[in-house]
Amino acid sequence: MVFKKGHPYYKGSEKNWFKKGNTPWWVLKGIEHPAKRIEVRNKISEANKGKRKSPETEFKKGDKRYWLGKKRSKETKEKMSINRTGKCIGEENPFYGKKHNEETKNTMKKKRQEGLKSGKIKIWNKDVPYTKISGEKHWNWKGGITPENHRQRVLIQSKLWRKSVLKRDNYTCQECHERGGRLHAHHIKTWAKYPKLRFDVNNGITLCKQCHDQIRWKEEDWIEYFQSKLGGGIRQEYCSTPTQAI
Ligand SMILES: [Zn+2]
Repeated sequence: MVFKKGHPYYKGSEKNWFKKGNTPWWVLKGIEHPAKRIEVRNKISEANKGKRKSPETEFKKGDKRYWLGKKRSKETKEKMSINRTGKCIGEENPFYGKKHNEETKNTMKKKRQEGLKSGKIKIWNKDVPYTKISGEKHWNWKGGITPENHRQRVLIQSKLWRKSVLKRDNYTCQECHERGGRLHAHHIKTWAKYPKLRFDVNNGITLCKQCHDQIRWKEEDWIEYFQSKLGGGIRQEYCSTPTQAI
């Protein structure tokens, strides 16, 4: 019912109208605003129980945006984290074996760059101490499958391998030919797929950080290119591999 001018209830009701500067009735009575009182709130919530204002548009669990702005309890988060650890790898990953097309890749790249620029996207592990996200706390932690002494040996071998590769290449990026700076020893054939070549100096090439970043995630595509750069991968003068010493 709308109380418009001319409505029989309109007349006389104007004196009860609330005007700016008036003291509200609940203040005059010395009570709290009715909507703030717990018994009133309970009454309202009781009356609204089971009623859905807009069943068609309301968010349901499973909707993409259902969790937007909602928070999960710490316990739930922990449970989810434990449940997910070690999963979603390889064939269990919903994206396994699929590839984004170039257009999508470009869009993703652009969005990320824009996000980083505007500050909307933050690098989650920036300024986080490494010890907080490594080892047991790492999302891909598989329960410490490498025995400690083996890990130590791998670490030493890796360092020696890196040193040998850099030395052979005269501490010069083999792509842009800049000498010194932040140099990486790149595994031509990947560490993961070619375990036998992990410490083979002929499987390494020196790249500066910038050049290395360019080929990240695309290592497979560059194998032949880098091998040809090394002249088939053999440079006898520095072929004393560090692995022989261990
Ligand atoms: Zn370079």
